[in-house]
Amino acid sequence: MAADIDILVSEVGPRDGLQSIKPILPLDAKKAWILAEAAAGVREIEVGSFVPASVLPQLADTAEVVAFARTIPDLEVAVLAPNARGAENAIKAGAHKITLPLSVSESHSLANLKRTHDQVIDEATRIAQMIRELPEDKRPHFEGSLSTAFGCTIEGQIPHTQIARLAERLKKAGCDEIGISDTTGYADPLAVRQMVKLVRAAVGDEAVTGIHLHNTRGLGLANVVAGLEEGLTTFDASLGGLGGCPFAPGASGNIVTEDLVFMLEAMGLKTGIDVDKLCQVRNILKSHLPDEPLYGFVPDAGVPKGFIPATPVSEVSA
Ligand code: ZN
Repeated sequence: MAADIDILVSEVGPRDGLQSIKPILPLDAKKAWILAEAAAGVREIEVGSFVPASVLPQLADTAEVVAFARTIPDLEVAVLAPNARGAENAIKAGAHKITLPLSVSESHSLANLKRTHDQVIDEATRIAQMIRELPEDKRPHFEGSLSTAFGCTIEGQIPHTQIARLAERLKKAGCDEIGISDTTGYADPLAVRQMVKLVRAAVGDEAVTGIHLHNTRGLGLANVVAGLEEGLTTFDASLGGLGGCPFAPGASGNIVTEDLVFMLEAMGLKTGIDVDKLCQVRNILKSHLPDEPLYGFVPDAGVPKGFIPATPVSEVSA
C-alpha cells in the first residue's frame, strides 16, 4: 500500500456492480468512470472479470478496460478470474492483481463456477504456476477469495473448520493473499471479527489484509469498523452501491464507496480520496444507467459543516 494512506479503498463497481445489473455500460462510459475515480484519489479499481461473454456480456470488454486502466498512473488494476483460463487472459491484458473466488459452500461453488472445491484449488495451483513463470516484475498479485464466508443462500452457515481448511489449501496452492468475502450480505460485526481471526490462524496474519462486504442488511459499515478493529487495511466498495441485491429489493449491493470514504476520513484514517470529487463521479452512472438505483447517504446529505478530511488530497493528474 502507498505510504501516504492508511486504508486502501478498492472500488469494485465496474466488476461487482456491473455484473449484477442487466444494462451494459458502454466501454467509453466505463473508461470515464474509472478515470474520474482515479482522479478523485481512488488507488485500486477492480475493472472487470475474465469470464466468457456468454456468461456475463456486461463484462465482455474487460481486456480493453484493463488496457485503458493501465495507462492511469499509480492505479492498481485488479480483475476477477474464475479459473486458470481467465487468469491467463488477465495476465495477457496486464492486470496488476488477480482474484480467484472460491466459494466455501460447495453447492454455491457448483452452482456459480460449476466446480468442486478440489477443482477450484486445482485452478489456483495452475494460476500460481503461471505467475511464477513470469519475470518477477511482471507478476500480478494473486488473491484467493473465500466467498460466501459468512453463509450461503443454499447451505446456510458453513462450518468454520471447512473455511479454515480451504483458506489453508488456497495459500498452499500459491495465493499471495486470502480475501474474505460476504457475498450474501450475511455478516455482522462479531462474525467479521471471528472470521478474520479464524482465517489468520489458518494462513498467517500477513496474508489477510482485506475484506469484501455487501450492505444487504444494512450492516456494511458496522462490519467495516469490526474489520478495522482487527487491523484490516483494504475494503472493497462500489460507487453508489451499484448492483443492488436480487434477494432484497431496496438494498444496495456492495457497501457504498462514498459513505465508506466519508466514514474512514471522519475517523482520521487517510484514504487519499476526495469525498466531494467522488460524489461527482455518480453523474457518469446516472447519465448512462438512468434506471439503476444508486445508494448512499453522504452524496445526498453532503459532508458536515466544517468537515476536515484526514488528509489534504493531492491532485491526481490523469
Ligand atoms: Zn460481491
